Amino acid sequence: MIRCVSCGQVYNDNDIVYRCECGSILEAVINVDVKKEVFSSRKNTMWKYKEFIPVDENKIVTLQEGATPFCKCDKLGKELGINLHVKVEGSNPTGSFKDRGMSVGMTKAIMLGVDAVGCASTGNTSASLAAYAARGGLKSIVLLPAGNVALGKLAQAMFHGAEVLSVDGNFDEALEMITKLAREKYLYLLNSINPFRLEGQKTIGFEILEDLGWQSPDRIILPVGNAGNISAIWKGIKEFYNAGYVENKPMMTGIQAEGSAPITHAFRKKSKSITPVENPETIATAIRIGDPVSYTKALNAIYDSNGYSETVSDDEILNAQKLLARTEGIGVEPASAASIAGLKKLVEDGTIEKGENIVCVVTGHLLKDPDTAIKASKEPTKIGASYDELKAYIQK
Ligand SMILES: *Cc1c(COP(=O)(O)O)cnc(C)c1O
Ligand SMILES: [Zn+2]
Repeated sequence: MIRCVSCGQVYNDNDIVYRCECGSILEAVINVDVKKEVFSSRKNTMWKYKEFIPVDENKIVTLQEGATPFCKCDKLGKELGINLHVKVEGSNPTGSFKDRGMSVGMTKAIMLGVDAVGCASTGNTSASLAAYAARGGLKSIVLLPAGNVALGKLAQAMFHGAEVLSVDGNFDEALEMITKLAREKYLYLLNSINPFRLEGQKTIGFEILEDLGWQSPDRIILPVGNAGNISAIWKGIKEFYNAGYVENKPMMTGIQAEGSAPITHAFRKKSKSITPVENPETIATAIRIGDPVSYTKALNAIYDSNGYSETVSDDEILNAQKLLARTEGIGVEPASAASIAGLKKLVEDGTIEKGENIVCVVTGHLLKDPDTAIKASKEPTKIGASYDELKAYIQK
């Protein structure tokens, strides 16, 4: 069943609803009774946790998402005085964690018998939607904010055959437009307001707990844009905790870009509601969102877990992106680096204690945004096709 997170109103799994009548957002409620030992005998994708994912397992639309690398980062951890693991979501089929949610969302679309799906996107949702719609054999339409989508993401959305529309406006405006189209039943909406998307994304939380040998880290840090992912991971953690698989839960720590930080602003006031940011700005286009749909769930996740929220500047993001790439070999897009930038800031101001066990979720691959990577790098040095010239250069 589907339930309103604010008033508790219940809806049927097959109702196509995106919001409760009270205006708040919905979540899927599941009922599971399974021993954790069954998971290890299965093929290693996020679908090994299928009992926790409320769709028909005979209709799954999958590109074998999930089971992403969980890298221990001793050099960076030592520098910061903590124990650090990085969950590398850029290793999903289209290069971001959005694939987990899209696999479940597209499966739901097939179960409902719709013929078209759509989303508004800062880039990665559209890349994922286009690929999974192709896989599921559905038409897809995506709205992108003109001029603010990284090149790799745009290439993916177009190449997988989505109908791509560039909106002269920001993400929040594009989302409002496509939501209206969905409410009038022209398409099935696969933005993260769709509760089934989060049922896929919560498997990041499942994997972290299993990766750590059925232990909880002290803290999970991740970038926050539309706030679906932090909500989803917390839901997954709570489900495994309630199932008795682990004895503790992590502090959920959401990082936002300074120019686009309604959740952090609310957190600082200990508020349960947000004031939307009118013209969100940041180089991290994936989190350039002023009016996050899942703010209620995200703030609940932060408060209920005794977590935290902080902002980072674009410079801090770019420095962290480079730091992670050069000390650990992990290449991520700018938004993803917000988690590392936030980690650094919170260690420096003492919010994070020495010796904490920390997992940073890095959400998308470096190649999603090649322009930013090239701009931040030294250009290749030009030499002739001559060994002497090469040797002279190396000896310099
Ligand atoms: C979508 C996205 C985010 C933000 O996730 P939300 O669920 O919107 O908070 C962060 N990083 C990347 C790379 C993304 O694609
Ligand atoms: Zn309600």
